[in-house]
Amino acid sequence: MDLYEHQARQLFADHGIAVPDAEVVDHPSAAHAAAERLGGRVVVKAQVKVGGRGKAGGVKAAADPGAAVITARQILGMDIKGHRVRSVMLAQPVAIEEEFYVGYVLDRTAGTFLAIASAEGGMDIEEVAATRPDAVARIPVDPAEGVTAAEAARIAEAASLPPETAPVLQALWQVLTEEDALLVEVNPLVRTTDGRILALDGKVTLDDNAAFRQSRWGADTTDPHGDPLEAAAAAKGLNYVKLDGEVGIIGNGAGLVMSTLDVVAGCGARPANFLDIGGGASARVMADGLTVILSDPSVRSVFVNVFGGITACDAVADGIVQALDSVHLTKPLVVRLDGNNAARGRAILDDRAHPMVQQVTTMDGAADRAARLALGGH
Ligand code: GDP
Ligand code: MN
Repeated sequence: MDLYEHQARQLFADHGIAVPDAEVVDHPSAAHAAAERLGGRVVVKAQVKVGGRGKAGGVKAAADPGAAVITARQILGMDIKGHRVRSVMLAQPVAIEEEFYVGYVLDRTAGTFLAIASAEGGMDIEEVAATRPDAVARIPVDPAEGVTAAEAARIAEAASLPPETAPVLQALWQVLTEEDALLVEVNPLVRTTDGRILALDGKVTLDDNAAFRQSRWGADTTDPHGDPLEAAAAAKGLNYVKLDGEVGIIGNGAGLVMSTLDVVAGCGARPANFLDIGGGASARVMADGLTVILSDPSVRSVFVNVFGGITACDAVADGIVQALDSVHLTKPLVVRLDGNNAARGRAILDDRAHPMVQQVTTMDGAADRAARLALGGH
């Protein structure tokens, strides 16, 4: 789960990293008093779990409390990369001398944590990393050793950061390890014109496996990406990931679903989601899965791809038939049943003779049919 900036900022402060004073409001009317308490001039910042807010117009300066109200009204309700802004943080403005980037991330390929640091932080860090990788230091951190003062100094030096940033690097490692995080990032970490080192923006991704002891962050724990369909699916216990395409996919077993995505893509259409109904393809699971997929407006056809094993195809077909009683099928459904009791399963669906349900016996053929239906062919 990603935290909001104001939550990340709280963790930084808890671990001794200096941050500007700030307050969060969810209505413009509260911005006036908040700005007054912060000294009048403020920076108004959209609170959404996505980067690049500055470039999207979600970070703006306001010269006085009146301007803070107007700016908060502009930013609240804004859509930033599909995320609706429901609250803004008002922060004391800072006179920036230099902007740095510092962070730690779990590198699964390397099997360890990496410190990532750059003396060229700020809003263009992605471009810096892409065009001049040498300007971004990537240093493995042995999790058993952790980041000692000496190690922090070494990371700062490798990234050409001033030595005053070393205590921040050390404290940030504490945030990562003590708060169950997989990623912590400060961008920008700044040196102010009066020589202070401050964390101006932060990102923290917590390990979902630790959700049971991270309840202080609220009900959001089931909503890792803020996508409403993913949240609805998670609430029903479904293993669902929303994708960008138009063919809804349901399969049993993660491996089969992954190859189904590939075959649909090979047919020239794009998968709209990943949904693994696992071994227990009951009517309930099938109905829940169809409901979630059909409520995605970009879905134009649905492909159910099942290889019967311990759960036989006739049980899956029964599940589909029962689901058809509770779900209003608005898009064509292409079903491919193979494996254990496939013939019986197909007969059950043939008997039901639902006008929106088609059966194709091969995976390639069914994927092609679903792709054509989604793309408007026949
Ligand atoms: P992001 O675009 O989502 O990463 O949002 P940030 O919080 O990093 O803000 C974007 C940029 O706004 C930062 O890189 C800073 O350059 C600038 N910024 C944010 N707060 C302040 C501030 O208090 N003073 C100044 N001068 N610039 C700020
Ligand atoms: Mn930033």
